[in-house]
Amino acid sequence: MSGEGVGPETGGAFLMALVVIVIAGYPYYIIFSMLLNNTASATEAGVYFIVYTGFIGGMLATWGTALGWLMLTLLLLLSISYPWLLGASERRAMWKMDLEDLAECDAFIRRAPTIVDNYDRAITICRRRGEYARAIQYAEAYLAAVGEDFKMQRRLEQLKRMLRRQTLGSKICPVCDTENTPGAAECIRCGRLLALPTDVVAGCASETGLRALAATTITLLAIGIALALLRSSALAIGIVFVSAFVTAMTYVYLRR
Ligand SMILES: [Zn+2]
Repeated sequence: MSGEGVGPETGGAFLMALVVIVIAGYPYYIIFSMLLNNTASATEAGVYFIVYTGFIGGMLATWGTALGWLMLTLLLLLSISYPWLLGASERRAMWKMDLEDLAECDAFIRRAPTIVDNYDRAITICRRRGEYARAIQYAEAYLAAVGEDFKMQRRLEQLKRMLRRQTLGSKICPVCDTENTPGAAECIRCGRLLALPTDVVAGCASETGLRALAATTITLLAIGIALALLRSSALAIGIVFVSAFVTAMTYVYLRR
């Protein structure tokens, strides 16, 4: 078994290999258990797998050089982000529970279509999950069943407003509560600055943004490994890998 590590000859490199195997092994274990427990989609697990493998590839490509130690550090930092992955995993388990609760609400609603409690419960679950379109369906179904209900009508209006904000990405002014257009740099009513750096992170939090982040990470890793194999400048390789690290961490953080 020990004969497999052909490349490294120094004791330091061997020790490094051992450390890498230990710290890299755990995230793989997490990724596979998430996949087996069905708490991560195949795509998501695939992204984690490719990204981790990419960093290990980068590590192997910069083997024995000073850059190798930077790679080891990045890999270590990436590995300790696994609680975020577990967070994502728990959220998915929670979503399963929500689905069961919603199915129960649906069953109750079918049996007693005029009892508001079941609709309320379903709307609360959908709202918490940011699924405003579905919440609106419940509110409308209740109104269709009972005709008129002032409280539910107000709730419906509120949900429609939230859905609009969500789909348009319109910005709500934190000072005066005015709704501004998505690209607005300042509030049309009070003039407060609305273009904040957090907007960039918020923009990445969409499905498209996450896909772009994953693609960027994987591309950067591929470039980094290619540069390392071509024995390009250590600075260039370092910059590419650190960039890949930043996008990977942002991805995992937003997924959590
Ligand atoms: Zn304002």
